[in-house]
Amino acid sequence: MSRLSAEFADRTIEAHFSHHLLPQTKEQLRTTLLFCSAVYLIFAVTDILALGLTPLSLALFGCRLGVAVVAIASCVTNHLHPHSVGRVYLTASITEIAGMLAFVPIVLARPAELAWHAMSMGLMVLVVYLYIPNRLLYSLAISAISTLVFIVIALIAGSLTAQEQLTMVMLLALANCFGYISARRYHLIRREEFRVQSVLKNLSERDPLTGCHNRRYLQQELLNMELSRARRFRLSVAVIACDIDYFKSVNDTYGHAAGDRVLVAFAALLRGLIREKVDNLIRFGGEEFLLVLPETDLSGAMHLAERMRAALSAMTTEIAPGKTVGVTASFGVTSVNFASVTTRFPQEAVIELADQLLYAAKRDGRNTVKALEFYGRPGLHVAARAAG
Ligand code: GH3
Ligand code: MG
Ligand code: MG
Repeated sequence: MSRLSAEFADRTIEAHFSHHLLPQTKEQLRTTLLFCSAVYLIFAVTDILALGLTPLSLALFGCRLGVAVVAIASCVTNHLHPHSVGRVYLTASITEIAGMLAFVPIVLARPAELAWHAMSMGLMVLVVYLYIPNRLLYSLAISAISTLVFIVIALIAGSLTAQEQLTMVMLLALANCFGYISARRYHLIRREEFRVQSVLKNLSERDPLTGCHNRRYLQQELLNMELSRARRFRLSVAVIACDIDYFKSVNDTYGHAAGDRVLVAFAALLRGLIREKVDNLIRFGGEEFLLVLPETDLSGAMHLAERMRAALSAMTTEIAPGKTVGVTASFGVTSVNFASVTTRFPQEAVIELADQLLYAAKRDGRNTVKALEFYGRPGLHVAARAAG
């Protein structure tokens, strides 16, 4: 993490983090902006008390109203663009700048109360750092520049003694330091929390040996997600189940560590043949893997399985220096086309069929591919057995 900006140095991870928190950030921004603009408007009372109900106090009310309008416009914009992280930070910054700019005429119109304005400025700086959600560097820039501008105005237009001026400058500098340090801590803690959550999620969803997703991820997230998406857009999804043949004998002959190497090599081979970030490779258990292939029909999946089968049978894995072992695998392939399948079926039924086809391939002598379309109706399992 960057020490200055308190963000992930890797922009992709930072974007992931911001998107993950977006609904929460937007909600926070809406509440804080509406609350701050209400307070800003209520403080018009102090203008009227200081200046009376004059055109000047009305003009200042206009400035305050302007800030409230910018805040409301920001909330509306974020509501209309619910997925834009950049827009959230932009609208937060614009509203903060508007609030700071509107403060200039207020200070100039009431120069006798400069000490109170300095106090307000200190509070506004803390609000920008800690209360309104924004990127830390934006908060820093807006607060520091506004503080500098305020100090220049106070030194030129105010009538503070040199001692009071020094106290004011020191207090505002402190407000900035404390604001920045506290906000930085908050940003770092949120990111650390996210990092730990991601590590735990990864640990619970992946198999440590091969790095593939595990069965829990398949059953709790992936399968439902892919089938629902395919159903919604009337697309095909294919599932390939594959299992190394006579794998027990690899363990028995060469040892468990050699078996592990073969598993890792097999997973790498499968991963190399599928579409990155589209297809999914899952270690279903032991030496059985499952592939979930979105937008893939039966013939596409069959060809892929055949390429995988041929590649594995032509490959050897080095299990010790100078010692290699070759294995084969059997494949069960199915695909469901939601353009024609409209009936509801339990999501596990597709995997069951792929698994039954895999065992049909085993019974058929191994090192082979068996495929059958899934129509979402009962009775196909019988057909699958017949195919074996
Ligand atoms: P088949 O052709 O019918 O699939 O026979 P097989 O020997 O491959 O199947 P079986 O189910 O009899 O044996 C699977 C073996 O896989 C037994 C188990 O010890 C081994 N195994 C499961 N997980 C691991 C693992 O993570 N590492 C290693 N080295 N072996 C594993
Ligand atoms: Mg096996
Ligand atoms: Mg097995």
